[in-house]
Amino acid sequence: MTYASLYQKYRPGTFDEVIGQEHVTRTLRNAVENDQVFHAYLFSGPRGTGKTSTARILARALNCEEGPTSSPCGKCRPCIEIAAGSFPDVFEIDAATHSKVEEAREFLAGVPTGLTAGARRKLYIIDEVHMLSTHAFNALLKTLEEPPAHVVFVLATTEPHKVPPTVAGRCQSLEFRLVSPQKLAEHYIEICEKEGVKAEAAAIEMIARQAGGSVRDGLSLLDQTITAISEEITVEAVLALTARSESETVAAVVDAVAAGDPARCFKLIGDLVDEGRDIRHFVAELNRYFRAMLVTVLAPSAPGLVQLDESAKARVAAQADLLGESAILRGIDLCGGVMTEAASGGDVRFAVETALVRMARPATDPSPAALLQRIESLEKLVSTGGAPPSPSSERVSETPDGKGSADVEAHTPAPNPASADPVVPSAAGSDENAGERVEAGQPPVASAVSGEVPDFDYLLRMWPEFLQALRDKRKQRLHALLAEGRPIALEGNDLIIGFGSKHQYHADSLTNSRDQFDQLLAEVYSAPLRIQSRIVESVDTSEPEAATPEDVPAAPASARVRAADTSNPAADASAEAPDSSGETPISPTDTSEVGVVDLVREAFAAEVVEEYRSE
Ligand SMILES: [Zn+2]
Repeated sequence: MTYASLYQKYRPGTFDEVIGQEHVTRTLRNAVENDQVFHAYLFSGPRGTGKTSTARILARALNCEEGPTSSPCGKCRPCIEIAAGSFPDVFEIDAATHSKVEEAREFLAGVPTGLTAGARRKLYIIDEVHMLSTHAFNALLKTLEEPPAHVVFVLATTEPHKVPPTVAGRCQSLEFRLVSPQKLAEHYIEICEKEGVKAEAAAIEMIARQAGGSVRDGLSLLDQTITAISEEITVEAVLALTARSESETVAAVVDAVAAGDPARCFKLIGDLVDEGRDIRHFVAELNRYFRAMLVTVLAPSAPGLVQLDESAKARVAAQADLLGESAILRGIDLCGGVMTEAASGGDVRFAVETALVRMARPATDPSPAALLQRIESLEKLVSTGGAPPSPSSERVSETPDGKGSADVEAHTPAPNPASADPVVPSAAGSDENAGERVEAGQPPVASAVSGEVPDFDYLLRMWPEFLQALRDKRKQRLHALLAEGRPIALEGNDLIIGFGSKHQYHADSLTNSRDQFDQLLAEVYSAPLRIQSRIVESVDTSEPEAATPEDVPAAPASARVRAADTSNPAADASAEAPDSSGETPISPTDTSEVGVVDLVREAFAAEVVEEYRSE
C-alpha cells in the first residue's frame, strides 16, 4: 500500500470543498451553470491556496458525465481521470520547469485539434505561468488571441505582476487569498476526525497559524505531526516538531540584530532560503516577535497578551531589555515595510536583508528612529556605568569560522555557569578555559580525547559545540529535543540527559533517535559515547541571559555597541576572546573618560573634534 499524503487525500474535488476561496468558486460555479465559461482564466495568489486544485475542479465541472455541472459527481470516468491527471483532454504543465518556447509550442500544439471521445472541453492548465520565457509568452498570446471554442486556459501564478499585460488582459482574473487560521483549523479538525486521530484544539490552532494561510503547508505539517505522535496531537508534539525551529530562527535573528551582527543575519536568512522556507512567513513571525517584545516592555504584567511558553517568554524579556523600546519599535516599522514590499511583489529576501542591516547597524541609518535608538542605548550605557562583567558579553563574539558559538551558549540550557549544579564549575577560571577553547574555534576533537571517553566536566563545557553541530547539520528536530534537557551525568560511556517529568515526550523521542545522536557524539567528541535519557525531578533549563537580567542589565547593551564597531568580526573575536568571561572591554572606571567618548563615537559614528578636560 502506498502512502497518500493528507494533501493528496483531501485535495478538494468540488467547488464546495475548496477552503476559503468562496469569491472565486462562486464566480466559476455561476459561469458553469450559465454556460458563460471564459476561454482563459488567470488564477493568482499565494502558494498552497488551491489554484491548481480549482483548475482541476473546473475541468471536472465541464467534463463530468452528469454535466456540465457546478457539482461534478466525482465518480464518472472523466471525474476520476481528471483527478488522477490522466484525462486525455486536460493538460497540465509547470512553467517553472518548462519555460522554453519549444516546450510551450509543443504543449500548445494540440490546441487546435478536436476533442477525444467523452470530452466536452479541453483544458490547458499552466502553473507558475510567470516563469515562461518572452518567446513562450508570445506563442501563448497567439493562441489566446484566437482560441478554439472548445478550449479553456487556466494560467496560475504566485506573481501576477510578472505576467505580461497583453496576456493577462485576455484572461478573466481571479485572485486567491491566504486562508484564515480559523478556517484552516476547522478544516484540519475535520480531517483529524476523518482520520480517527485525537488532537488538542490548541495544537491544531498552532498548526493552522504555522501554515501561514496555505492549506497545503498546514497539511504537510499535520502529516508530519501525525507520523511523529503515538496517540494524540498535542501542543508539545507540534512544538517539538516545528515551532521551535521556526521561532528559534526568529529568536536567533533578533540575537544577531541585538549583537549588531549583520553577517549572522545574512547567514540565518540564507539558511532559511536553503531550507525552502517561506521568507514572508518568517517576516510575519519576526514582526510578531517584536510585538511580543514590545508588550513585554510596555505591559510586563499584563497576562495573556503574549502567547509563549515560559522559557520563550524569559528569552523575549531578556532580548527586549537588550534592545530597548525604540529599537523594538523600529524593528516593527522595518518589518512592516518588508511586508508591504512583499505584498507588492518586491524581492522579499533583499528587503529583509536590508531591513536587518538597518536594525543591526543603527549607526548606518540616518533616520530619526535610528537616531533615537542610538540615543537610547547611549543613555542606558551611561546610566549603568559602562559595561560590568558578565557572561552574557560572550554572546556577541564569533568564532573565526563564523559560527556563533557564544550565541548558542546564550540560550542552551546545559552549560549554565550560573546554575548551582555542583558539577559545573562556576569559577571564572574554568569558564575562561572553555571560552578560550570555543572562541579559538578548535574542534574539540583536537584536545587529547581521541577514542577515549572524556570526563563529564569536559563534555559539559563542549556541549554548546555539540548543539551547534546539530544546527549546522540542520538537525532541528534533534536540537529541539535536547533543548528541553541537559546532561546530568556520565555513566561509563553513557551520557545521561535529564528531562523534567513534563518532557516525557522529548525523553522518549531522544531514546528513539539515539542512533543519530550517537553518531554525532562520536564526530564531535571523537569518543564512543551513547546518549541516554532520564526523567528527573527538576531540570534547570533556564537560560543564562534570562536568569540574570536584573543583575547585569547593561552588559549586553555595551557588548552590542562594541560589536557594532567591529569591522572585522573574526579578528575582533580572537582579540576579545580572553575578555569575554573575565575582564570587561570597558571597565566601569573608564566610563567617565575614555568610555563615554568611545560610546559616543560608536553610537553616532562621531569623530572627536576637540577635547576639553575638566580640572
Ligand atoms: Zn463526474
